[in-house]
Amino acid sequence: MRATVGFAGDEAPASWPATSSLPRPEVLDRPVGTLPGVGPAIRRRLAKLGLRTVGDVLAHRPRRYESAAEERTIAELFGEDEAVLDVVVRRAAARRRGRLHILTAHVRDATGEIRATWFNQPWLESKLVPGTRLRVRGKRNRFGFQVSSFDIGDAIETADFAPVYPSTADLAQKTLRALTEAALPLARAVGEPLPARVRLGGTLPLRADAVVSLHRPRSEEEAEDARRRLALDELLTLQLALRRRTVEREALVAEALPQPGALTGRYRDVLPFVLTDAQESAIAEIDADLGRTTPMQRLLQGDVGSGKTAVALYTLLRAVEAGRQGALMAPTETLAEQHFLTIEGLCAELGVRVALLTSSLRARERRTVHQLVASGDVGIALGTHALIQREVEFADLAVAVVDEQHRFGVEQRAALAEARSPHVLHMTATPIPRTLALTVYGDLAVSEIAAPPADRKPIVTARVTEERSAEAYTRLRRHLDEGRQAYVVCPLVEGSETTIAHAAEDEAARLRTGELRDYRVGCVHGRLKTADRRAAMAAFTAGELDVLVATTVIEVGVDVPNATIMIVQEADRFGLAQLHQLRGRVGRGAEQSYCLLISRHRDEVSEPANERLEAMVATTDGFELAERDLEIRGEGQLVGARQSGLTDLRFTRLRADRDLLERAKELAAELEGEPILEAAVARLLGEAEHVGES
Ligand code: ADP
Ligand code: MG
Repeated sequence: MRATVGFAGDEAPASWPATSSLPRPEVLDRPVGTLPGVGPAIRRRLAKLGLRTVGDVLAHRPRRYESAAEERTIAELFGEDEAVLDVVVRRAAARRRGRLHILTAHVRDATGEIRATWFNQPWLESKLVPGTRLRVRGKRNRFGFQVSSFDIGDAIETADFAPVYPSTADLAQKTLRALTEAALPLARAVGEPLPARVRLGGTLPLRADAVVSLHRPRSEEEAEDARRRLALDELLTLQLALRRRTVEREALVAEALPQPGALTGRYRDVLPFVLTDAQESAIAEIDADLGRTTPMQRLLQGDVGSGKTAVALYTLLRAVEAGRQGALMAPTETLAEQHFLTIEGLCAELGVRVALLTSSLRARERRTVHQLVASGDVGIALGTHALIQREVEFADLAVAVVDEQHRFGVEQRAALAEARSPHVLHMTATPIPRTLALTVYGDLAVSEIAAPPADRKPIVTARVTEERSAEAYTRLRRHLDEGRQAYVVCPLVEGSETTIAHAAEDEAARLRTGELRDYRVGCVHGRLKTADRRAAMAAFTAGELDVLVATTVIEVGVDVPNATIMIVQEADRFGLAQLHQLRGRVGRGAEQSYCLLISRHRDEVSEPANERLEAMVATTDGFELAERDLEIRGEGQLVGARQSGLTDLRFTRLRADRDLLERAKELAAELEGEPILEAAVARLLGEAEHVGES
């Protein structure tokens, strides 16, 4: 379970994976401290961005380039155009609003005065003394002028195509620009991994030139060519790694399962619904895999609510009807218990014995379950990672299903696969654009449940400003009065699991005496004792609670079709994938469902946050949202990319670079075994020590 959450998308994640995936000479492995002006404080801030070596700095890809904005006077400001102002500070003041730090300065030039606003840059407060000269770049909004970038002091210039780097609040663009400037002379040391004969007929620059152009392009086109060259290297390394993995996997042997039998036939009869075409075609693909002696490694992708569980259970029953065992591993206890509730009922009707194994079992219970699993009395075992602990011996494990597999470390998944070499079905509801799936899961076969069960109505989603949140609760109460149920998702708070839990309890207490005073309100969070959480979930499922106030623990798997409305508080703080997962808790039955995203006013939240909320309102299609998420983030950290255990794609734009992906595949076939590339592949697969990492 994750301990902390932040502004997904706005800030760099706390720790990025090692940057360069290509071999690099010594000089690039020098610590950043060897660059001029980098003391311990800056070094720590750079480390937060994953920049530890000179090579890391050179591979830090600009998020965008600033194009020239028109210089205006305050009197000339109009509309929403970006403009640059040359102004002097009159006075400045800071305030806080929740987690948001807002700094405003009254600034003026010869033509007038305006209020300029900065968000989350508390370090700037002490610098905005009256009389300071500033060049600010930004847009007019209803409060004044929202600053996107700026320079302080006299020696200022806002260059065309100046790179804008992913950064943190306490690290100025200026610092990063100065740093890359200092590192660029060393770019010559970047090796050329592509032999001259395949250098693509001169259509792409040399790698070293590309690194220079990345940071100092003379035009947008030059920057784009540089990015594409680096993307090609990245994709090539990835393709080589995937080829190697495929070879390794194909060397493993599993027992083929016989054809589907009577048990899975009866399963179709006891299911309360008819499987959709999408589910049936996934099942057909799985059946084909299970009939082979190479272990299945299939990824089942389906948006939240698309009905993956029914496919998973089918797969598990295929093992049981062959006289063998199935295991389902879920990332959290809540989810494992939810699966147990769903699966146990059906299995009881089928006469299949199911056991739940979680870390909260008492020692004696656990021993009993272990024995049942080891003797083969249990046909299907469900659990969290406790399932793969060494002491769990299966009598004859044939099929493993890994739910929400991105939540597991690669090592955990590997442990499950290696110890027993069963057929493995990975499931994910984190929608990954197909291009990305093919790129990073090149070694997995992919099945997609593209359409949800037909009786679903798309969830109606609306953005509600904080001032009008009372109306959202009125609406929610209307649902409750009609016998429906609801979720209220608490604001994201930073801190330990305990802090988060307290905040959730406080919020539930507030609602019980406030907006939801006449209703039965439960609360779940990550700090509840297992029995209490189970009781709360069971009460909600049974309709004994009207509302569940929850943290993001309900993000995955919770399945209560009678819940038809969700309020997400402070929705602008959540990441897009997270919002989509949360929303997936409603709209699971035939009733029209609603998701109300409470957020601060448009002008008070960052641009990416506005874009995320707009995307949520615009579509319920998870794949579309995933693509939007990529666009909004625009850099690093692709959704799902890390799931593969491979490094992030830093330079690749999956949609724009399809041609490069094709080329990389061809090159990989041609260049397999080239020593310079082999070293890079080893690094990518974590086989070599990463230099410069702490
Ligand atoms: P997810 O893909 O998010 O794991 P679930 O497997 O939990 O989705 O299914 C979501 C809901 O849809 C469940 O309530 C399940 O019973 C229901 N469901 C699954 N398949 C069908 C179907 N073919 N027809 C109708 N309802 C279905
Ligand atoms: Mg599920």
